[in-house]
Amino acid sequence: MRPRAVWRRPTKKISIFEAAGRRPAAYMPQPQRYIAHFDLDAFFVSVECLNDPSLKGKPLLVGGHSDRGVVAACSYEARKYGIHSAMPIRTALRLCPHATVVGNARGEYSKYSRWVTEIIAAIAPLFEKASIDEFYLDLTGMERFHDPYQWTIALREEIISATKLPISFALASNKMVSKIATQEAKPNGYIHVPPGMEQEFLAPLKVNKIPGVGEQTWQVMQEMGIITIRDLSEQPVELLERRFGKYGTDLWHKARGIHDSEVVPYHEAKSISTENTFEENKTDMEFLMAELVRMTERVAYELRQDDKTAGCIAVKIRYPDFETTSRQTTIPYTFYDDELIAKAKELFHKLYRKGTPIRLMGVRLSELTSEAIQTNLFENTQRKTELYKAIDDVKERFGKDAVVKAGGQKAEGDRSVGKATSRFLRRSGDEKENQ
Ligand SMILES: [Mg+2]
Repeated sequence: MRPRAVWRRPTKKISIFEAAGRRPAAYMPQPQRYIAHFDLDAFFVSVECLNDPSLKGKPLLVGGHSDRGVVAACSYEARKYGIHSAMPIRTALRLCPHATVVGNARGEYSKYSRWVTEIIAAIAPLFEKASIDEFYLDLTGMERFHDPYQWTIALREEIISATKLPISFALASNKMVSKIATQEAKPNGYIHVPPGMEQEFLAPLKVNKIPGVGEQTWQVMQEMGIITIRDLSEQPVELLERRFGKYGTDLWHKARGIHDSEVVPYHEAKSISTENTFEENKTDMEFLMAELVRMTERVAYELRQDDKTAGCIAVKIRYPDFETTSRQTTIPYTFYDDELIAKAKELFHKLYRKGTPIRLMGVRLSELTSEAIQTNLFENTQRKTELYKAIDDVKERFGKDAVVKAGGQKAEGDRSVGKATSRFLRRSGDEKENQ
């Protein structure tokens, strides 16, 4: 067999054509790719409506009931009033006073999210779970056997008939175009952007439809007279680079429908997390410690319910200016409250800027595994396990707050308990629902 050609930097300047034969894959013409983007429509709202069909067709806000809560998701009926996610609930209720505030069924959201993930995982050759309700599928190569578009249509129908959740998708040649196209397909629809049609498809859309173009960039673009993606693609790239740096070049390529990013395969690795936005910013250490204990007990309880142990714990703090920091540490696999609480406190003290008020706090367990408990035996494991199982039985019978350690009694009601499937503990951000 001939050895594979290896790309080496040419010792003297030669043209790319002279170098032919030893050029790296990046210089090869890229094969036509087929990337599908699936996104559940108003996911949290759809789940709430499945649980309570009387909510269907009403303006709904999913989010915390407290004064300081923000809209995590809203129904299409609510959007007609100008409501959008991340808007304070208070503002939303001013725009639409008869809207119903629902939510916090985080366990339910994860359950449905997992269900959809399983359906996709069962048949998709390669997929990425981009958020709790959003998936990219790389179907490249399938075209030799099936029509990728017909295949994605069938998959969508399967998801809808199994879960009863509305979902939209788009098929295109890259992630960016398929994501933008899915937004255009909503609600409950689908779009195919055939190869070669990317730029034409994007041209009439507003620049802020490009993922990552935030309010600030959009403002500057408008001032520059750049409204549509066509306007953007017609700008000299140098101008964009001068104004926005490397990001400008990126945008210029995106406006032409060029985007190379790959579908990153999904591996099941769950984490269990909870977080709480306080009614008012807190500095009271006694309160904060009590809250930390209570939250850790909550996730540990969930962990035991899943018959899992955790190998990693993280604590997150958000200050009133929205600066968010988190810190994590690996631990011997455990599902015991006392061990997890000790670690959570340790992390908190390393993380916390003393005296600064805290707006939000969170605890997350990850590296969950079912087997490890057998390998980390210590003397009284058996008795301790029995004790915890007994406590959990009481919790189940009398409600989760029936048994709280002394330090946890002062804490407020939980508002964001939930299990999330996430591979990205290292990131401080949470899984978010994209509309
Ligand atoms: Mg969505």
